[in-house]
Amino acid sequence: MKVNPQYNTKETLLELYNKPLLELVFEAATIHRQHHNPREVQMSSLLSIKTGGCSEDCSYCPQAARYNTGVNADKLMTVDTVIEQATNAKNNGSSRLCMGAAWREVKDNRDFDNVIEMVQQVNSMGLEVCCTLGMLTDDQAKRLKNAGLYAYNHNLDSSEEYYSDVISTREYHDRLNTIENVRGAGISVCSGGIIGMGEKVDDRIGLLMSYMKMDNPPESIPINALVAVEGTPLEEQKEIESWEIIRMVATTRIAFPESIVRLSAGRTSLSIETQGLCFMAGAGSIFAGDKLLTTPNPEFNEDSQMFDILGLIPKKPFQDGCQPETHKDEIIEQKKVLAEKRKKELQEARENAIKNNFKPRVFKTVDSIKNEEQLSK
Ligand code: SF4
Repeated sequence: MKVNPQYNTKETLLELYNKPLLELVFEAATIHRQHHNPREVQMSSLLSIKTGGCSEDCSYCPQAARYNTGVNADKLMTVDTVIEQATNAKNNGSSRLCMGAAWREVKDNRDFDNVIEMVQQVNSMGLEVCCTLGMLTDDQAKRLKNAGLYAYNHNLDSSEEYYSDVISTREYHDRLNTIENVRGAGISVCSGGIIGMGEKVDDRIGLLMSYMKMDNPPESIPINALVAVEGTPLEEQKEIESWEIIRMVATTRIAFPESIVRLSAGRTSLSIETQGLCFMAGAGSIFAGDKLLTTPNPEFNEDSQMFDILGLIPKKPFQDGCQPETHKDEIIEQKKVLAEKRKKELQEARENAIKNNFKPRVFKTVDSIKNEEQLSK
């Protein structure tokens, strides 16, 4: 992904961000038209496959176990339920399904095997599959790629300087490492930020500069507006003005002309007019469906009405990259062979026992001995 060399320093980016709003939108709209079809907007669905109970302390997140937000910790969704939800999302016009799990990091256990199966099956439905599962190792990223994962979301949230004000349980470089692992596995990178957490404009620019410094910046940059949830440390945070989100979308569009700028959380408080200006300024995707993980989002039919009003067309999947191939997962296959072998051994042991007239030892309890004595009297 190429960056705009005109705005590759903090100073030039800041100057761009502070341009008169309509000039900024005009410049963004011009650049957007040079690199993208301005009528096409991707509808993506975000599905929480494992809700709540997270050990992290992200100040904005209602899924952190330590905050009293009324979000309960659920188990991982079954593969069948995910397929049902994916079918529903596809029928409603989504071309990407993003599966989110409230984990600090991925662990190499049965849950991850199930996620691999989800990726395999959703990819075979012809949807772009994205996951957001927390920190990933190199090997885990490779397993996801092999299963057919199209994109991985891992937000940097804000500038490196402001990050520790929002999260203390991990560091900025942990995020950068995961992004590197995702990139190394050949998966499309989705990474962006949240505005309205109390950060300064400098921090918004700092976030964009973090992507500017990458050898290969993200293919997708989601811009979220904070949804202040009761019970989180940011519950009192004032809602941002709509022009701030337009400004952020436009600046991101101009700085990263080839990336998809995704208008993400916080859309419920934006009017159709404001969202229209965001699309004008280069937003190329929205999340559809009445929930974004645990926070409210416009319903499918509200969005399709908005598409009609603004003359937008839902973008088809795999317009920006080929559909990944789904391969068998070696670890899951090995586990299956092992389980089959154990089953066979058990069966053989049972058959041998019957053949040899084996009588299992019966261990007597004090009560059963007393009972026998009684009966024999
Ligand atoms: S944002 Fe993710 S990592 Fe942070 S608390 Fe929420 S679920 Fe956990």
